[in-house]
Order: sequence, then structure tokens, then C-alpha cells
Amino acid sequence: MVRVLKEMEQYAKENHIPIMMKDGIEFLEKYIKENHVKKILELGTAIGYSAIRMASIDKNIKIVTIERDKNRYEEALKNIKKVKLENQIEVIFMDIMDYYTEEEFDLIFIDAAKSQYIKFFEKFESNLIIGGTVISDNLNFHGYTKMLERIESKNLRQMVGKIRNYIAYLEDKKNFETTFLELGDGIGISVKRGE
Ligand code: SAH
Ligand code: MG
Repeated sequence: MVRVLKEMEQYAKENHIPIMMKDGIEFLEKYIKENHVKKILELGTAIGYSAIRMASIDKNIKIVTIERDKNRYEEALKNIKKVKLENQIEVIFMDIMDYYTEEEFDLIFIDAAKSQYIKFFEKFESNLIIGGTVISDNLNFHGYTKMLERIESKNLRQMVGKIRNYIAYLEDKKNFETTFLELGDGIGISVKRGE
């Protein structure tokens, strides 16, 4: 297991695949343990790194994870097989916006296209149990979110603007209580309140 994870870290580095940063993933693992999370929906599988780390915490954890890139999807399947977690992790090869489910989850981990975070949140918030959590990764967007006004590239400015909108959206959302952590690349923890 440790060897496969190390290989995956190396592969991600060589191929510029943005897997979760060390302190970010460690926080996520701790959160899952402490809150006895058992059903997880992950948006953005990449090569399966975070899914494998989350599933390894406990045999009773089940993860549905979605990826639209064919190569990454296939790489994820291979890796999950190597560590024998096929019975805990279901990888779906699809665009997140095309995926529908009636299943309920304790945790939704949003780690896909940053420009679509609000859409992702709205699409799946009803699949989250009361007291469940949405965890959003990359809210600092490599430090750019804090320096929007000084960014020269128009595309990058737009992207960062969207992340800022998402942060404002979370802050305003009445039925969720959000905390922001300066961990990894910036993480949002949004807990769903009762009615
Ligand atoms: N959670 C992973 C990293 C995910 S990187 C880890 O920490 O190990 C983000 C991934 O989301 C990329 O592989 C990208 O292809 C995928 N992605 C982005 N937008 C998507 C969408 N709309 N539907 C499906 N996958 C998407
Ligand atoms: Mg990420």
C-alpha cells in the first residue's frame, strides 16, 4: 500500500496531476475518522489517490468517485485494483454534471473543475444527509485567490473570480455552516444544518 501510494505521488508529479497536498489529505483522513464518515461522493478522481487514502481508513467506507478524463479514469482503476479496494471504491467515467444519483452521502468531496464549484454544490447538496459535510479543495488556487487584483492573465483572473464567488456563496448559504482552513491549497468545510 505505502509503495503504491508513493508511486502514485511520483506519477502525479511527473504528469502534472493535481492530487491533494499532504496536509490537506491528512486533514481529510482525520475528519473521516473523527466523524465516522462511511459514504463518500468524490467529484474529481484523477488517478484515485485521494479515494484510495480515504477508503483505506476503514473497511466499511464506500466511495463513489467521478472522473471524465479517460486516461486518468483508467489509471485510477489500475491503482485501485493494485491495492485491492475495488469493493469499496466505484469509479464512474462521466462528466459530473451528467451524473445523477438518489444515494445519500455523509461526505461530498469537491475537487474537480474550480469554475463549476457552485454548480456541483447545488447538484448534490440534496444527496447529503443532515449533519453531513461538503469539503471543497483548492480554495486558495495556489495562492492566487488572495491576489485577484494583481493577476495579469484574463483567464486566470476569471477563474480566481469564480473561486471567490464560491467562497462568498458558501459564506451566505443559510442551511450550511462553513469554516475555511488554510491547509493544503485551502479547504472549505461546510456542514449541513437541520431544518
Ligand atoms: N481528488 C484527486 C485529484 C483530482 S484532480 C486526488 O486528490 O487524488 C481533478 C480531477 O477532476 C481531474 O482529473 C479532472 O479531469 C477532473 N474533473 C474536472 N472537472 C470534471 C467534471 N466536470 N467531470 C468529471 N471530472 C472532472
Ligand atoms: Mg485539489
